[in-house]
Amino acid sequence: MGLNRSWVESANSPDADFPLNNLPCGVFSTGAEEPRCGMAIGDFVLDVSGLEAAGHLALDGGPLLDVPFWNEVMAAGPEVWASLRAQVTALLAEGAERVAEPYLHRRNEVELHLPFLVSEYTDFYAGRHHAFNVGTMFRGPENALPPNWLHIPIGYNGRASSVVVSGTDVRRPWGQVKGPDDQAPRFAPSARFDIELEMGAVVGLPSDHGQPVTVEEADAMIFGYVLLNDWSARDIQAWEYQPLGPFQSKATATTISPWIVTRAALEPFRTATPAREKPLLAYLQEPRPLLYDIALEVGLTPEGGQETIISRTNYAEMYYSAAQQLAHHTVSGCAMNTGDLLGSGTISGPAKESCGSLLELSWGGKEPFEIAGGRRSFIEDGDRLTLRGHARGDGYRIGFGACSGKVIPALADPYRRD
Ligand code: MN
Repeated sequence: MGLNRSWVESANSPDADFPLNNLPCGVFSTGAEEPRCGMAIGDFVLDVSGLEAAGHLALDGGPLLDVPFWNEVMAAGPEVWASLRAQVTALLAEGAERVAEPYLHRRNEVELHLPFLVSEYTDFYAGRHHAFNVGTMFRGPENALPPNWLHIPIGYNGRASSVVVSGTDVRRPWGQVKGPDDQAPRFAPSARFDIELEMGAVVGLPSDHGQPVTVEEADAMIFGYVLLNDWSARDIQAWEYQPLGPFQSKATATTISPWIVTRAALEPFRTATPAREKPLLAYLQEPRPLLYDIALEVGLTPEGGQETIISRTNYAEMYYSAAQQLAHHTVSGCAMNTGDLLGSGTISGPAKESCGSLLELSWGGKEPFEIAGGRRSFIEDGDRLTLRGHARGDGYRIGFGACSGKVIPALADPYRRD
């Protein structure tokens, strides 16, 4: 399937992130107006909330778009998702009557907000290369992959409150650190602040408490995907992580891209997970390819400087798909909710320049890497980190928009009260 042409000309360029084939879901505002639901098309945002209010869109159980989040649409289920996609496609298709034209806003003139209410956030550790690299640095190559890693998509329960939309500044955190030469832990700003390049799966349909779901059912529950940066304070993490995993080191912020790219838009880009090194238990086996071929990159821009692309990799590097992770999440009987966000785990490829964290790119800070006008081991104050991603089709691409955040200096004294 090729490009689906639109009368919105900027949507027809082969390098546009948001052709008619995409139609990702976001929340936007203009001026002092209240935030509302929109979909990206070419250089514009389509005010689908306004279209629904005016009767140009009709959804079962609606109105569903009169709130500043997509949770109501997500909870309404796949028939409504498909109906919305079909109606908006018809409104924007080449040759269609331009009733939607007054509902277009230039994308560079709107403010974008979190696209959904994040009910809970779970982060996985499902990239083979990342797990091996980090394990090697923390425990040595013999013990790099924990014995459970090839059998379980390992995860931890993160904080929904940490999730912020692209563009939000991220303040360098303070925390407890204990370096190899320290006799006792110290309280200090993180000196090894880092990113994790991840994809986030957004759960649309809930599951019942007490009822595990299959991998196939799990896939059908997923509404769409975002880019996700799991900001990580490595010095805090190294001291706190045993035996229950990361805690404060990952709680500073989790940045997501502002557009939920729907599963429907990504369907042509399905690809299989890599070959299994050990057979998976039956409940985790995939009935068909459930990963996606999505090219990813990370840019680092120092304050006042120019951007260097520091990593290029692909979502297809994951060992476990989001559907496998979601199915595993429910085996205990744990209920999943509309608005649950699942971080994939850091997506590193096999090569050094395909690593999804600075920890790996600088090999624990021992091998600083070059950027335009300098070198880096970890993030410095004023650095902007930007994740980008797209799937490439025949004559078009499905882009995610940027997932960007600037690191601002730590508070001078976090316990000072003015
Ligand atoms: Mn992570």
